[in-house]
Amino acid sequence: MFNSRLDPHQRENALQALATQNFDVLVIGGGVTGVGTALDGASRGLRVALIEANDIASGTSSRSSKLIHGGLRYLEQYNFKLVREALQEREALVTSLAPHLVKPVAFLYPLHEKIKDRTYVGAGLALYDVLRGFNRALPWHKHISQRSIAAIAPSLRPDIVTGAIKYFDAQVDDARHTMMVARTAARHGAVIATRVRCQSLLREGKRVVGATVTDIETGNEINISASVTIMCAGIWSDELHEKFGLKAGYEVRMSKGVHIVLPKSAINSQSGIILKTPTSVLFVIPWNNEWIVGTTDTEYIGDRSEPLAGREDVEYILNQANRVLQPKIRESEIIGVYAGLRPLVSRKAGASTSKLSREHTVDRPTPGFVSIAGGKYTTYRIMATDAVDIASKELKRSVPNSVTDKLPIVGADGYTALMQQIPTLQSESGLGAATIEHLLNRYGSLISELLELIVDDPSLAEKLHPSFPYIKAEIYYAVSHEGARSVDDVISRRTRLTFEAPENAELLVAQIAEIITPILGWNKKQKQHSMDEYMAIVARERAALAAVFEDKSAVSS
Ligand SMILES: Cc1cc2nc3c(=O)[nH]c(=O)nc-3n(C[C@H](O)[C@H](O)[C@H](O)COP(=O)(O)OP(=O)(O)OC[C@H]3O[C@@H](n4cnc5c(N)ncnc54)[C@H](O)[C@@H]3O)c2cc1C
Repeated sequence: MFNSRLDPHQRENALQALATQNFDVLVIGGGVTGVGTALDGASRGLRVALIEANDIASGTSSRSSKLIHGGLRYLEQYNFKLVREALQEREALVTSLAPHLVKPVAFLYPLHEKIKDRTYVGAGLALYDVLRGFNRALPWHKHISQRSIAAIAPSLRPDIVTGAIKYFDAQVDDARHTMMVARTAARHGAVIATRVRCQSLLREGKRVVGATVTDIETGNEINISASVTIMCAGIWSDELHEKFGLKAGYEVRMSKGVHIVLPKSAINSQSGIILKTPTSVLFVIPWNNEWIVGTTDTEYIGDRSEPLAGREDVEYILNQANRVLQPKIRESEIIGVYAGLRPLVSRKAGASTSKLSREHTVDRPTPGFVSIAGGKYTTYRIMATDAVDIASKELKRSVPNSVTDKLPIVGADGYTALMQQIPTLQSESGLGAATIEHLLNRYGSLISELLELIVDDPSLAEKLHPSFPYIKAEIYYAVSHEGARSVDDVISRRTRLTFEAPENAELLVAQIAEIITPILGWNKKQKQHSMDEYMAIVARERAALAAVFEDKSAVSS
């Protein structure tokens, strides 16, 4: 009946529907909270629309550490409820909701002092393992001797690392997962349109009855009629509350987190590494042929749409990582850097919010309008359920309970079996085993749609670039099924080439534009505009990085 495909034709239909239909719920914002909310509402049988000002996951949801975790540091704050809840979400995502996208990842927690350290950290990690309850998809933590560390992670300095504890968490390509949740929402009937910005709210008396939005691509204005509007705008929440003349019970502070990206050769370890820092923790996370190392946590005031890393951010990461690594990471080894802004909620003095818990807040500042912000990526499904539960009170009928805890996202169905059928898929498609595995871990059972594209045009089986696993069919599919509408969408979020291969930007941009132009129906000028737009982002990032590296003292000796 409904289809998960997001393509130019679907967008046209969505714009038409936004202008003509009455919705139960309008969701503003296509980050993980927004798409989760759209899925929660649609799968309860509600008529849902979602608008996103830019691209799906173009805000914080593409710039995280990409960990699905309970958050070890919350244990030190005795926030056991939050940890337990997040660990249960982790378990569900790894086993049933998104096993094709959310994968276990091992971390070493280095110890510096033989007995006290091991007892304290060991007890913490035992508690971390116990809090997940009876479901145990991920292995139990394990004590590692100094001798074993030499084999697992020769890059850890033996003079100061006396042992380690190995434990497991999970990781995800955040932008890809968010887009797949959006497709699942579409599959259940949600009307989704990107490049559509909410400008103002429609009101009848005090009640919000929808919103006026602008199609960024044409400049057309649309009035959307909805019984309740749910704003999931993350770090844009304060700005929008003010613009809409609403007094919310909470405010959102922005905290900047920076990551650096290194080639696999920079660190010799078979496992991720977590380090306790004076203020928080630093992760060394395996990512395809790279390492992602971060993050920082600093107050941020500035342009929300394009946060950039500063010299002090990179310096901090290098200095913290180099405390335990040998050889030390050199700044010249850094291949990419990205920054994101955490939406941190705090209650306004004297205000009463509908719900303030687990670090996220749901508020209903006026009838017909609910807003939610804060939380973490891992708990997006719980946030979405809370938001729809509160919004449902605005609908004059009974609304069923959320079913998303039992609703796998598209591509999950049949994934485990397909992983065992790689040889068959290989002989049927003519693709190599590594490419089939790469595709299964990005598309799950939707791999069949990519293989069909290759049957129609065998040239799409070619690799985009010999150094990277992506094939041309993925670039085509990003636009024909995954809602990408620009070179930036494809290079930054449908693939992660933006931080995996920044030095190849010029070459990749031209190739990607060539593949997507016919599907988007671009003329020469539109094609050039999209390429220029992305290269302008690259130029700004390169300028920021150049400023970072100007000061050679960035690496401690
Ligand atoms: C550095 C860093 C590391 C992190 N690491 C982790 C981690 O490892 N694990 C974890 O669980 N969490 C992590 N987080 C937290 C997690 O990433 C965020 O909590 C989550 O992504 C927030 O999602 P969101 O949907 O609320 O916000 P966003 O993703 O920012 O989405 C808000 C959306 O609203 C849209 N919007 C704004 N204004 C309008 C408008 N007028 N009209 C239409 N749309 C609009 C924006 O374009 C944006 O796409 C991390 C965060 C950061 C910054």
